[in-house]
Amino acid sequence: MGKCANCGEALRPAWKYCIKCGMRVAQAGDGIPGAIRPDPEPARRKRPDAMLAFGAIMAVVGVALIVWVAIVVFTPRG
Ligand SMILES: [Zn+2]
Repeated sequence: MGKCANCGEALRPAWKYCIKCGMRVAQAGDGIPGAIRPDPEPARRKRPDAMLAFGAIMAVVGVALIVWVAIVVFTPRG
C-alpha cells in the first residue's frame, strides 16, 4: 500500500490507477508478467507439441491409407 505520488491519495493494493487523479499506480510485480503469472511458457508449449505429434501421426496414417487404397484400386482382380 502507499500514497499516490501525484496527489497523495491513500491507495489500495487492488487499484491500478488512483481514483482521485487517475495516475498510474506503481506496484510490486507490476510490469513483471512472471510475478503475476508464473511460468506461462511450459503450459503453452505442451499443447503445440501434442498437436504436432497428433498431426504427424495423422499424416502417416493418411499416407498409409492412400497407399493402401491405391494398391487395392490398381491391383487387378480375378
Ligand atoms: Zn492520485
